[in-house]
Amino acid sequence: MKKTDRTILLIIAILISFGFTINFIATSLFPPTNPRTTPRVILFSIDSANPEYLTEEMMPKLFAEIMARGSKYRHALTSLAAETQLGHTSMLTGAYTNNSGMIGNGYYNTTSNTTVGVALDHNFRLAETLIEAIEPNNTIKTAFISGKWRLPPLLCQEANFVFASPITELVTGDPYPLPDGYLQKLGTPIHYADGDLVDTWCIRALIELIKQDDPDFIFCNLAWTDVFGHYSGGVGDYSGMIKRHLRELDNLFMHLFTELKAMGEYENTLFIFTSDHGMETVEKIVDIEGYLIGKGIQNHVHVEGGSGFIFLENPANTSSAVDFLQQHPDVAVVLNRSQMYQYPYCLNTWENRTGQIYISLREHVVLSLRLPGFGEIPLSQIGSHGGIALQDVIMAWMGPNITRTGYEITTIVPHVVDIVPTICNLTGWPVPGQSQGRVLNEIIG
Ligand SMILES: [Zn+2]
Repeated sequence: MKKTDRTILLIIAILISFGFTINFIATSLFPPTNPRTTPRVILFSIDSANPEYLTEEMMPKLFAEIMARGSKYRHALTSLAAETQLGHTSMLTGAYTNNSGMIGNGYYNTTSNTTVGVALDHNFRLAETLIEAIEPNNTIKTAFISGKWRLPPLLCQEANFVFASPITELVTGDPYPLPDGYLQKLGTPIHYADGDLVDTWCIRALIELIKQDDPDFIFCNLAWTDVFGHYSGGVGDYSGMIKRHLRELDNLFMHLFTELKAMGEYENTLFIFTSDHGMETVEKIVDIEGYLIGKGIQNHVHVEGGSGFIFLENPANTSSAVDFLQQHPDVAVVLNRSQMYQYPYCLNTWENRTGQIYISLREHVVLSLRLPGFGEIPLSQIGSHGGIALQDVIMAWMGPNITRTGYEITTIVPHVVDIVPTICNLTGWPVPGQSQGRVLNEIIG
């Protein structure tokens, strides 16, 4: 072989190996899109997100992304009483209040005459979650990231990966360690006085989770829209704090999308954005328990913000109590037991959970608390939720399975219970046993 031939062969060999190396580096840095048979599903709960939060004005970047790759509903509903523990139960089980047994954040124990402010025992809920329904199939991995400290004890059962606030462990006494390998990467979860994790930490956990373990279903609660809402009230004329926070959240989602695109994991992800309840600015606090006592009717009101469940000492007083409540200027809805089944209330669970009467106050009015020996205790928060006006939440879907894109749907009002059956329809995962929602065919068909 001539020297020039050998040189050419050498150059060709170098080029081939160099090319191989470039390919190797390129595929290492930018791996090809995961060949999933079903999409990865990320369900975001932006805690306390009113419908007007996810608009061009408040979150312009996320809004534009959704319009390009999905659909958004102008209004959607959550369950009543519009509170965190119940809203997330409906979102993850597909069950209304009447099937889940949850009536709000807590409940009144009629045996001991004590109030449980926050239901943490998962045995209290009567409906299984999507994560529990999936669990027998060992090939589907699930994750539960919770900004709110109070959600994991109630809803994270059977999740393969759980990310919880250190406060969850402190309050329950049960261990909630980060999954293996994440403490070194993420550091201790960052929370503030009320115990809820900051949104940035949760999004970092989500990115790291997809890099390391890549679950098929990820639930992610972002708590700080709620925290700021309680500090400062809802949106509208009220809260510049909420507006600034939503801009930051908008950028945080863009950061997440950029990271997923770099990993090749953006296009194969189905994103759902929703909320457990809305947020309103409190303008008035009323004492309904005292009002009925003043009318000669002994009772106890279990308070869930703007909603109340009334336990009468003598249930024979139901109709006269209903009459008095209908006369109260701040009461918007009064339901006796035989009316509780009606949509969108769906409250006809066990009587020892609902009492004999349900009420919701009008917008911007909440109930005061009464504790034995203390009398009336006015609520001290600027922002609150719980009543029928706070049933309105955000809902948007985007990703590979959404066939109707670029729409803001105004004529259909879905419910958060529709999320789970729609996910199951798209993925083939088993529908939880007590699910009552419908498949949102208008955006996937
Ligand atoms: Zn909440």
